Amino acid sequence: MYKNIVVLGGGTAGWMSAVYIAKKWAHKNFRIQVIESDAIGTIGVGEGTVPSIADFFDALGIPEHEWMPKCNATYKNGIRFKQWSSVDGHEDYFHPFYSELDAFHKQALLTSIALRTQGFNTYAHPDVFSVVSKLDQEDKSPISSENYLFKSAYAYHFDAGLLADFLKSKAIELGVEHTVATISDVKLDNTGAIASIISNDGTEFLGDLFIDCSGFKSMLLGRALGVEYISFNDTLLNDAAVTVATEMDSSIPSATYSTALSSGWAWQIPLTHRYGNGYVYSSKYISPEQATIELLEHLNLPEGTPVNHVKMRVGRFAKGWEKNCAALGLAQGFVEPLEATALHFVTQSVIDLVSAIEDANYSDANRDIYNKKLEARFTSTRDYIELHYLANSRTDSKYWHAARSFTPNRRLQRLINAWQRGENIAHVLNEEKVSLQLFSLEAWVYLLAGKGFYSTTNERTLKVAPDNVNVNIERIKQFVNISATHFKSHKLSLENLKP
Ligand SMILES: Cc1cc2nc3c(=O)[nH]c(=O)nc-3n(C[C@H](O)[C@H](O)[C@H](O)COP(=O)(O)OP(=O)(O)OC[C@H]3O[C@@H](n4cnc5c(N)ncnc54)[C@H](O)[C@@H]3O)c2cc1C
Repeated sequence: MYKNIVVLGGGTAGWMSAVYIAKKWAHKNFRIQVIESDAIGTIGVGEGTVPSIADFFDALGIPEHEWMPKCNATYKNGIRFKQWSSVDGHEDYFHPFYSELDAFHKQALLTSIALRTQGFNTYAHPDVFSVVSKLDQEDKSPISSENYLFKSAYAYHFDAGLLADFLKSKAIELGVEHTVATISDVKLDNTGAIASIISNDGTEFLGDLFIDCSGFKSMLLGRALGVEYISFNDTLLNDAAVTVATEMDSSIPSATYSTALSSGWAWQIPLTHRYGNGYVYSSKYISPEQATIELLEHLNLPEGTPVNHVKMRVGRFAKGWEKNCAALGLAQGFVEPLEATALHFVTQSVIDLVSAIEDANYSDANRDIYNKKLEARFTSTRDYIELHYLANSRTDSKYWHAARSFTPNRRLQRLINAWQRGENIAHVLNEEKVSLQLFSLEAWVYLLAGKGFYSTTNERTLKVAPDNVNVNIERIKQFVNISATHFKSHKLSLENLKP
């Protein structure tokens, strides 16, 4: 029975896992320890999220006004992709999170875009259908005025270091024990499971269940248990990032910006007091020095501005839970940060792990089910991120050619064929059992239509749309403009965060 739980690592993944387990099993008298090294740092990035994180805070019973100001957090309506496409009119587009308001025109969006894929001259850019895209353009919060009935899902941006500190204090309040020690050895028992981990001063930490949150090196799952690693670098080229903070503007954007550069893409994430910026690139196509110069130019910062360099290992372990060890966070795997999904993997994995263990009377009987679910999450997230690269139409560098030149897997090839023939991609997603939980049908459509990934891109060859198409763009624009007036300025809603 899993009663003595040892979490290795005090990064965001370590503290998210510890606090969630401590909250869920508060009355069980289990021992939960977090061991982190003061000699090995945390990754120091990871500031954007997806809406499922709100459910995680709800499950912990922590309201926004308590944690957001302490973590310099802001609201996130979605991601704006800039310069990923060289198709006229598609230089940028927005990927909004779900909104009840956008749902009103979902059918109009799908009809208009479907006709466009069939070669008719209809409205082909998704932004015009979305109130949430308008909120981004006006730096508005996803929180509507009081008494306004329609709600939008949203996520957050935050300072990852401050969030780890905040969750650490919550975990310790809930009885989690915290030890600073650097682990240098792992003892296995005669079944090959982990018996204990040993620090470099000889202290031995015994446990029934080990949660490996040791970052990219995956000290327990990868190194000690030797679980196979599956690299994604045959299709996802980026393996490094350079980061720098910049000053906040007078108004605070409510979205992440992802701008394609010569050999990757740059993020800009607004926190209350600064922007976090980074250039995710492929070291095969650009050196760290050149990437630094390009990032600083992109941000109009002087040469010589201090930056941080990060290496990335993009791939996953074949099993996220082996014997008595489950890895969470970077130790479990990482699909590159384009859609800010890594912390979603942490929260969903710890939720799944706790319920898999509870349902099996605190044993490992549900391990295979857990591993299959995790594999499916990796597969659909990886597919979605790969499609960003396959659908790019930049011609300015070898990197962008290479980024779309890999052979898509069967699912993606089927999806692309269906899209370009003007067929309904919903059927393909359903038949291929692509999980639509994280990326809905609209999200796939936003990606392809936003980038102008149409087989007929020359407007002059387009046919006149049939008369009976029930899409009144002027009325939709009016609806979008009026609806956006019900939402506050982002900056104001952050200032007004109150109990
Ligand atoms: C460039 C980049 C951008 C990213 N952007 C996003 C984003 O926008 N959104 C998102 O959700 N995620 C993002 N991520 C991922 C995100 O940063 C991580 O998922 C998150 O920070 C969790 O990291 P971690 O806790 O798994 O690992 P780490 O932060 O690396 O923490 C590892 C911990 O293990 C401890 N440790 C390691 N070895 C030992 C040892 N031998 N003994 C004791 N302790 C040890 C360390 O001290 C540390 O406390 C990004 C990642 C990268 C690389």
